[in-house]
Amino acid sequence: MTFRLEPPPAPKSARIRRGGWSWGQVEGVRHRSLSLGAGIQSSTLVMMMVTGDLPWVDSILFADTGDESIRTLEHLDWLEGQVKLHTNGRVEIHRVGRGGRLSDRIRNRAAGRGVINNDRFVSAPFYTEGRKGKRNGAGGQGKRQCTREFKLEPLDRARRGLLGYRPRQRIPAGSVEVWIGISTDEVVRAGAAFSPWQINRYPLLEMRMSRQDCVAWLESHGFPVPPKSACVFCPYRSNAEWRWLRDNDPQGWADALEIDRLIRNTPGMREREFLHRDRVPLAEVDLSTDEERGQGMLMVCDAGCGL
Ligand code: SF4
Repeated sequence: MTFRLEPPPAPKSARIRRGGWSWGQVEGVRHRSLSLGAGIQSSTLVMMMVTGDLPWVDSILFADTGDESIRTLEHLDWLEGQVKLHTNGRVEIHRVGRGGRLSDRIRNRAAGRGVINNDRFVSAPFYTEGRKGKRNGAGGQGKRQCTREFKLEPLDRARRGLLGYRPRQRIPAGSVEVWIGISTDEVVRAGAAFSPWQINRYPLLEMRMSRQDCVAWLESHGFPVPPKSACVFCPYRSNAEWRWLRDNDPQGWADALEIDRLIRNTPGMREREFLHRDRVPLAEVDLSTDEERGQGMLMVCDAGCGL
């Protein structure tokens, strides 16, 4: 099974749209870096570098919220071994984070502990219950600050450090080409980089690869197909994905149940929050159906929630 980036007819110089993303290689960048979520798509990019189907980037960054499933972390260890083996240590997988676990911030808020170690509460996209007086009494969803604080900012900081720049020091525009593993079925997540010194690139889109193509490619090479990566309590799960967590990661499932219980009556929140989109306690949801509503894990941060 062969998928390749397309020079030719790749453009002579990269087409850079909106100042922040490129279709094709960007000439003159100082650094190429992959945002690794360790799910199917970004793992495919790593393994395509291993097999020589893609050229190696200079760095691979994994943003660790401290709350990934143990199965994802095991897969990450395996990827790390592959990268080390095939580059003789020239390329590394850097695990970057904000310090501390996202779940601990949620625990602190639930306990009404307020700001600890300068870490204020960060909101996650939990489902809120409807209440009287609110439009149609319909429930909503919390803000997704977690992506920015626990993924995007640590990734930016790490790349800045790899380039040798201090915090807030100006970096010339277009210095870093950032590879992101978004496949054709999630094209809506592709977008421009937020900072002018980074240019996003989507190799799977350039190769017209869907998620299913990635699975088929991994299997055809005898490589493991990883689970979707996300915090164990991420609300963007379908029933099938919750069921997978329950059946494959007992500790992760226990953590999700705990967080679900803790967010029910959080001090300062006017509405009760839930992990499941049905707005019922996770422990009580009938997960036997494969019902998929909304976009499921499409919105999840495989290396950066729609970077
Ligand atoms: S996986 Fe979900 S909970 Fe975790 S940082 Fe991303 S959006 Fe937030």
